[in-house]
Amino acid sequence: MADKPTAAFVLSLIGGIFVLLGGAFQAFLGAVISGIGTTANGTSTAGVGSVVGILGILGIIFGIVMILGGVMMYSNPQSHKMWGVIVLILSIISFATSSFGGVVIGFLLGLIGGILGLVYKPSMGPAAMQGQPMGSMPMGSTGTMGAGAPIGQMGMTCKNCGASIPAGATRCPSCGASV
Ligand SMILES: [Zn+2]
Repeated sequence: MADKPTAAFVLSLIGGIFVLLGGAFQAFLGAVISGIGTTANGTSTAGVGSVVGILGILGIIFGIVMILGGVMMYSNPQSHKMWGVIVLILSIISFATSSFGGVVIGFLLGLIGGILGLVYKPSMGPAAMQGQPMGSMPMGSTGTMGAGAPIGQMGMTCKNCGASIPAGATRCPSCGASV
């Protein structure tokens, strides 16, 4: 539990909810403005209403992706960098496309959550700890062992004197014969 980006997850989640609700409210407002436009002032108000509504729908989508980003950062800490960037960018875009209070709170939380997710360092990074190649899966181990394993890692013996030669050596440390 300690090696989970909990703060980034919580902030992205709450930020996403605020952006989602702000977007939903704006989409509703856009529909209302469009409704007023058609009855009172023709197409001009309806145009404004549809723009407000579309931006609101975008806010809903951004909010959902931000929530997803927070969940993904938590469930799969290895993907923290990608999702941190996504939450960060979406919170900034949502701030640019809307001016509602709820979205401002969502923007700030998403911004902090995204940064925390981005800079988060898993305490147990398998790639850093073991230096294991990405492609080496347990299923393919029998195939890669025969074909991919370097010969230098195998214990070699000198053809001349029979002494064991360390991996990477070009000459026998015992008698000096070239390998
Ligand atoms: Zn030798």
